[in-house]
Parts: sequence; C-alpha cells; structure tokens
Amino acid sequence: MINKRVDLTPSQIEHLKTLVTGAVSTNETILDQHGRDESAIPPVRPSAVVMPHSTEEVSSVLKYCNSEKIPVVAFGAGSSLEGHVLPLFGGISLDLTEMNKIIEIRPDDLLVRVEPGVHRMALNEKLASNGLFFSVDPGADATLGGMASTGAAGTTTVRYGSMRDNVLAMTAVMADGTVIKTGRETRKLSAGYDLTRLLVGSEGTLAVITELTLRVFGIPEKMAAAIVRFPTLSDGVTAATAIVRSGISIARCEFLDAKCIKNVNAHDGLNLSEMPTLFFEFHGSPQGVAEDAQSVRDIVEEFGGSDFEWTVDEGARRKLWQARHNAYWAGIAAHPGKRAVSTDAAVPLSKLSDAVQTAEQILSKHPYPFSILGHVADANFHCFIVTDPANPKELEDVRDITHEITMKMIEMGGTCTGEHGIGSGKIEALVEETGAPAVSIMKLIKQTLDPNNILNPGKVFN
Ligand SMILES: Cc1cc2nc3c(=O)[nH]c(=O)nc-3n(C[C@H](O)[C@H](O)[C@H](O)COP(=O)(O)OP(=O)(O)OC[C@H]3O[C@@H](n4cnc5c(N)ncnc54)[C@H](O)[C@@H]3O)c2cc1C
Repeated sequence: MINKRVDLTPSQIEHLKTLVTGAVSTNETILDQHGRDESAIPPVRPSAVVMPHSTEEVSSVLKYCNSEKIPVVAFGAGSSLEGHVLPLFGGISLDLTEMNKIIEIRPDDLLVRVEPGVHRMALNEKLASNGLFFSVDPGADATLGGMASTGAAGTTTVRYGSMRDNVLAMTAVMADGTVIKTGRETRKLSAGYDLTRLLVGSEGTLAVITELTLRVFGIPEKMAAAIVRFPTLSDGVTAATAIVRSGISIARCEFLDAKCIKNVNAHDGLNLSEMPTLFFEFHGSPQGVAEDAQSVRDIVEEFGGSDFEWTVDEGARRKLWQARHNAYWAGIAAHPGKRAVSTDAAVPLSKLSDAVQTAEQILSKHPYPFSILGHVADANFHCFIVTDPANPKELEDVRDITHEITMKMIEMGGTCTGEHGIGSGKIEALVEETGAPAVSIMKLIKQTLDPNNILNPGKVFN
C-alpha cells in the first residue's frame, strides 16, 4: 500500500526510458508543469514525467510501476479543478498528450475513435469538415482522456449529454498492465456489467484510458443565441427552471450574475448590462430556432426578464459564447495574482433557486470576492471564490466556506459535484453524500482492480 512519497531511483528512471519511445523527464520546469492543475490547491511535483506513444507502452509502464509500487498519475491538459493531477505521493506523471491521433471518423455511424491526448477543440476542427461536432464542452480545451476520466459535462449537456452519455467504448490499461476493451461501437448495449461507465469518472484511479470511441452529432442547420437580463439572481434562475420544465429544446442555457458580467465586459471588451443574465443557444432549422427563441422570450418575460436580444449572426453568437467561456479567466484577470476556488453543486431542479440563494447568503458573510454562474438548465452552478495563493490561511478558510455550502447542497438532495469530480478536494463530501456503505463498495472495487494503489493514490478516497 502506498502511504508515503515515492521518489524514483536513477536506475528506475533508466528502466522507464527503455519502455517508452517518448520522453522520460526529470527537468524541473516539466515537473512543475505536471505538479499543478487549475485549482488553488498547492502544487506537488512528480518524481518524473513519462510520455508514452501507444497502448503497449502504457501497459509496459504500468506493469513495471506496479511491480515496483511506483504511483502513476495520468495527465491530460491539467485543467481539472480538484487537485486531480497532483502526484500527492510522488511517483510518475504519465502524460498522455503525445497519444493524440484521431484514429477514425465514421460519419455514417456518427462516431469517432481517438487517442486520449486529443484536445476537444482539435477534434472539433477536424470533425467540422465532415459536418459533425463533438458536443461535450467544458469550456477549457481539455483532452478527451481527461474529460472521460472526470465525467466532464458543460454548456451543451442539457441537449446532448455529458461524457457519461457520449463515450461508447474504450481501450484501457489496468494497474497490472492488462489491456481491456469495454463497450461496443453500437448506440445501445446491454451486455454484462457496464465497465465503460465504471471507468468514465474514475479520475485515473482504476485504469489509464488509451483509446475512446465517442458519439458525434451533425452540425445543426442553424444556431441562434439569445440573452436576457433579470432584476435578481433568483428571478433568472426561476425563469431558467420554468424553461426547462416547458420542454423547449434549448442547446445551452447559462446563468451569469452581475459580477461575472462586469468581469467578462472588462476581459472581452463587451458592453453588456451589469445585471443577472441568462445566455441561450438554440439548434435546429431556421424556423425552429426562431420559434424556440420566441417561446423562451414569452416565458422569461413572465419572470421579469428584460432586454431580450437574439441573433442568428454567427459572429455575434460566437462572441457571446466566447465571453461565457471566458468567465473563469475574466474572474481571475479581475483579481491579478489571485487564484479561484470553484464549487460545483447540482441539485434537483425544484431546489435550484433556494440553493443559489443559500450559497449567496453564506458567501456574503465573508470578505472573499465571489461570483455565481452555472449550467442552470442542468441545475448545476458554480460559486467562483477568489483567494490569495500567498496566504495559505485564506485558502483554508475558503475551503471551509465551500465545505459549508457543499453540505447545505447535499442536505437539499444535491450532489457535491455535478461535473468536476472528487479529486483530493471533495473526499469528505463524497462520504457525506453517498454514505459510508456505498463508499466501502467503491473502495472494494479499487482494491480489486488496483491492489497496490498505484493509480492516482490519495484521490476519491483517503
Ligand atoms: C476555465 C475552466 C472551466 C471549466 N469548466 C468545466 C465545465 O464546464 N465542465 C466540466 O466538466 N469541467 C470543467 N472544467 C474542469 C476541466 O476542464 C475538466 O475536469 C476536464 O475534463 C479535465 O480534462 P484534462 O484533459 O484537463 O484532464 P486532467 O486535468 O489532466 O486530468 C483530470 C483527471 O483525469 C485523469 N486522467 C487524465 N487523462 C487520463 C487518461 N487517459 N486515463 C485515465 N485517467 C486520466 C487524471 O489523472 C486526473 O485525475 C473547467 C476547467 C477550467 C479551467
């Protein structure tokens, strides 16, 4: 069992070099790059970074690390937000980004096969020439392997689903080096235990994914964007839930509070009214998107929505959604030198308005700047709280506050994480939410698949 930091010996590093055709690096800059993610959690360096080029190489590395009890932390783009990629017990960071081939695009089957290091934006650039797109959009330009491993979701999940819905099959390497194939290239499957969905969201703790078969969609004939402002946070959230209940086909529906709007205005050179705002996107025929936009307008006006604007102009649509996707970076840019802690609660739809108000009340009692935004159509929202990395006491304090919010969300029947995952940041919350007996079953699965606990130790459970 790994319970203390492992630093590799020179001979172990030399041996690893014989197992891969990519680099094995102990360069300090490279170690630093692999010792941090986008969270405010302090960095931890791996002992070495290993860059495999094939499933066979990953298998050889894992077989060796398992025999030597060397921790292995898979690394994609490092954009995760709960300390997922931090090598808490040293060992190697297994960087999959040079396994970045788009193996096959199959328009007739609406699927694509990729290696895990392909970034989602690069995939979408390639798919566009086939009239296709991959729908899961977490904002960050993450890798498909990282997105599968965190069970990522995002702005389009309300219409197209999350990684849990869009990974059909995968090749994965288990802790002892065994290569397995899960799932099929079919749209339905009912054969045996669902190992694909066991590995999706397993955060690199059960296996390393080396190939993915993903569902893709045809690019809609028309896309329209709309924006509407509300007097209060609560009005906007209530309007969004009413729209979801009405069954109107929305492709995206996102909420930004007035502080987020102020930040994106400054960051993206926009001039949006600094009020709680809902952003929408509609996909369909020209007539269909116009009807959807009108139906949404009718509903939002009942909830005090004003200044409804909509457009089918592609440039304007992209600019608006770019601003939404930049909200995180805009928040950081508004507080130079600071880092952010992001909550990630999802609650039952009927509780969303109460949940957002509760979070706002808790945060208002403290001195830390914050803003609230979210994938409101999925009843999933983020509180973005600013903290000073030079003051560790502040981070501890903010962590206590986010824990308080998380516990309230669980009490309301919600989850501590709708999409970011547990990492090292939400271990206690998982027990609170799921209960000790269910967490014990998860631990049994981990012990069976990775008895030496080499795969991303210290994540999901202690
Ligand atoms: C601005 C911003 C906005 C974001 N918005 C969203 C959002 O809307 N929705 C959302 O879901 N997330 C969001 N995130 C979080 C992040 O982008 C996702 O968690 C993403 O899925 C991580 O992918 P990655 O390639 O960066 O993975 P990494 O951060 O490199 O790794 C994440 C986890 O996956 C494991 N892993 C990586 N590759 C593999 C592999 N091949 N096999 C096995 N395990 C592997 C790692 O060990 C780690 O545990 C956001 C992040 C930022 C910075």
